[in-house]
Amino acid sequence: MGDSRIAFVTGASSGIGLAVTRMLAEQGFAVYGCARNAGNMASAVADLVAEGLDVSGGPCDVTSADSVREAVAAAVARYGRIDVLVNNAGRGGGGEIGKLDETTWLDVVNTNLNGVFRVTHEVVARGGMGAGDYGRIINIASTGGKQGVIYASPYSASKHGVVGFTKAVGLELAKTGITVNAVCPGYVETPMAAKVRSGYADFWGVSEHDVLEKFEAKIPLGRYSTPEEVAGLVGYLVTDAAASITAQALNVCGGLGNY
Ligand code: NDP
Repeated sequence: MGDSRIAFVTGASSGIGLAVTRMLAEQGFAVYGCARNAGNMASAVADLVAEGLDVSGGPCDVTSADSVREAVAAAVARYGRIDVLVNNAGRGGGGEIGKLDETTWLDVVNTNLNGVFRVTHEVVARGGMGAGDYGRIINIASTGGKQGVIYASPYSASKHGVVGFTKAVGLELAKTGITVNAVCPGYVETPMAAKVRSGYADFWGVSEHDVLEKFEAKIPLGRYSTPEEVAGLVGYLVTDAAASITAQALNVCGGLGNY
């Protein structure tokens, strides 16, 4: 195991979570990644190990307390403790409010908000975080956690919830050496972003390319952020130099969000 710090990343098999896993491992962390699809997670781990990185992982569904307990226990069994938690697993989803079904509402909130609670609770309770006066909890929220996202009320509500949760737990843990922050991406090119564009193309009866152009026009930088740019802020927040940043929600969004 060595004396590396240990990170636990949810939703580590794709997009932002995969970039965060690679970035933390490149910074010298041992990283345990998880996602629902065990095959995808195993193949992401195999790719990263082939790059010479200290990464392992397994299945986890953040909508299930039992599954979260098992995944955290697996990471602790392997590495002894968890120093850094990145709550990244999430899903999009929504629709016109009058047509939105309750199942979608409940699953978006259960995944994006309740999932962050479940994993944070488990890691703080049984992950040994805070040893050596160091711990980092980083929640991947969204600029949609600070401003409304049209046709995405459950998503926007869940991400506002993540920002509120972050601020409250950040204050609670402030004296322990554990910082708690939210990273709020705007538009980031990932498999989820492609699915989101396809949803809006259906809503508006236009092509996915038209949606892309419309979104790019809204972003002051004129382009989507990359998963690596989001991972870069995570990579800073885990450093000792970032010890006084806590209970914050920080945007990585090409200027899309302004506060
Ligand atoms: P992707 O769809 O590319 O990846 C999502 C990851 O989460 C996958 O590894 C997926 O694996 C996992 N996941 C999904 N549901 C669960 C679950 N219930 N339990 C455990 N793992 C799960 O998404 P992105 O990388 O784009 O998004 C990552 C985070 O960033 C999300 O929280 C998203 O809301 C946020 N974000 C993304 C933005 C964007 O534009 N892309 C903008 C703002 C925020 P599997 O399906 O196998 O479980």
